[in-house]
Amino acid sequence: MSDVLIRGSCLCGKIRFEIRDKPLFMSSCHCTRCRKAGGSTTVAVHAEQLRWLKGEDLVVRYRPEPPYHIVRCFCGRCGTYLGEPDPGARGFPIAAAALDGDPGVRRVLHEHVAERAPWYEIDDELPQFPGHPPGLGGDGPAADE
Ligand SMILES: [Zn+2]
Ligand SMILES: [Zn+2]
Repeated sequence: MSDVLIRGSCLCGKIRFEIRDKPLFMSSCHCTRCRKAGGSTTVAVHAEQLRWLKGEDLVVRYRPEPPYHIVRCFCGRCGTYLGEPDPGARGFPIAAAALDGDPGVRRVLHEHVAERAPWYEIDDELPQFPGHPPGLGGDGPAADE
């Protein structure tokens, strides 16, 4: 364990959290669902890395209709997308936009580029995957295997 501590918060500031140690990686998902949620770029963390500092009771969990299954979290007051912090999961993505500090990792890939918005230009040389990359989860009918 290092003493790296990355703070995060929502727009209204009622929710604050911290991530201990550097996240595993950062990635961008171009699927329509991440896009609408407002959280295309996320950092992946182990569950034990996340600690709520305040406002956990304000976290609203949106549970989608099947076949979608990913529970997405927002601030119930200002609507900031926080990612998919699931207390029962071993790890999950946290919205990079909610971070206040530098997570120390940079984007390593683009996923679901087949659903990319026509106005979004990918201007880097990172690997692109039409769906979710092998070994990584995703939201959708094929993601529960
Ligand atoms: Zn808020
Ligand atoms: Zn997505």
